[in-house]
Amino acid sequence: MQDTFAILIDGKEAAAHAGETILDALRRAQVDTPTLCTHEHLTPAKACRACVVELKGSRALVASCERKVEPGMELRTDSRRVLEARRGVFELLLSQNDVSAAPALVLQAERAGADRERYRGQRYDRGLHDDNELYVRDYDKCILCYRCVEACGPDVQNTFALTVAGRGFSAGIAAGYGESLPDSACVFCGNCVAVCPTGALMDKREHTLRAEGRWDESRYDVVQTTCSYCGVGCQLELHVDRRSNQIVKVTSPGDHSITQGFLCVKGRYGYSFVEA
Ligand code: SF4
Ligand code: SF4
Repeated sequence: MQDTFAILIDGKEAAAHAGETILDALRRAQVDTPTLCTHEHLTPAKACRACVVELKGSRALVASCERKVEPGMELRTDSRRVLEARRGVFELLLSQNDVSAAPALVLQAERAGADRERYRGQRYDRGLHDDNELYVRDYDKCILCYRCVEACGPDVQNTFALTVAGRGFSAGIAAGYGESLPDSACVFCGNCVAVCPTGALMDKREHTLRAEGRWDESRYDVVQTTCSYCGVGCQLELHVDRRSNQIVKVTSPGDHSITQGFLCVKGRYGYSFVEA
C-alpha cells in the first residue's frame, strides 16, 4: 500500500497516511470531531461512539478512533445520521451523569446540539468512594470511557487494579472485586486520575477545595521542575496557589518524552516535604 493516498471527507479530497486512523486524518484536515474515550497515549477503548462517521459501503457507522484509513475511502462527518448519533451519545451522558467538573465534555455536547433534559430521570447514583488520602472516586461523574482502566493496565502502569464491574445501568469502574483502594492492587500513581476526563477521579486536595468552594484556577501558577526523588528525570508541573504558596496539584506535561504525563506516587503525591 502507498504511504500516502487520497480519501474523501465530506466530498473533499484529503491526504491520508497508511497506518493512521480515520480520526488522525480528520484532525489533520481540521474536521471538528468529538471524542471522549480517546487519549493520545492510550489505546482507544472504542467505548463512547462520539467520533462515529459514515463510511461509504459500510452498513454501520464506524468509530473513527479505531478504523484505519484505506485508499479511496469516502467519509461523511456531517450527514444527518452521523449528527443524530453523536447528539444521542451526548444526550445520554448529560442526562445521566454529573458533568459539573467536565467543561470540555459539556462544550462538545453543546456543539453537538445535545438536549440535556431528554433522558432525565435515569440518573446514575453510584456514590462517592473516599477511602484514602490521595484521591477520591466519584462515580456519579463517570462516563465509562475506560481511560483509567487502560492507564492502570497494559498501556502505562501494568498494575491492573481497575476493572469494569456490573451490567447496564449498574455497570461501573471498580477496584479489584469491589474492595477499597488501599485493599486493592493500587500503587497510587494517580495515572488514572491524570487521564480521567470528567473529574470522576480527582486528587483529594482538589476535591476538598472544590467541595469547600475554594478551588480557583485563576490563582494558580504552574511551575515546571524535575522530580528530585530519583534519576529518571520526570517533569513535574506544580500547580501553586500564589497567595498561600501551597501546592494544590501535581501533573506532568503530556508531550514530555520521558513521562508523557504519567508519574509514580512519589512524583505526583510526595510533595508535603516542600511545605514542611
Ligand atoms: S492510582 Fe495507579 S495503580 Fe492505582 S488505580 Fe490508578 S492507575 Fe492504577
Ligand atoms: S473514572 Fe474517569 S477515566 Fe475512568 S471510566 Fe470513568 S470517566 Fe473514564
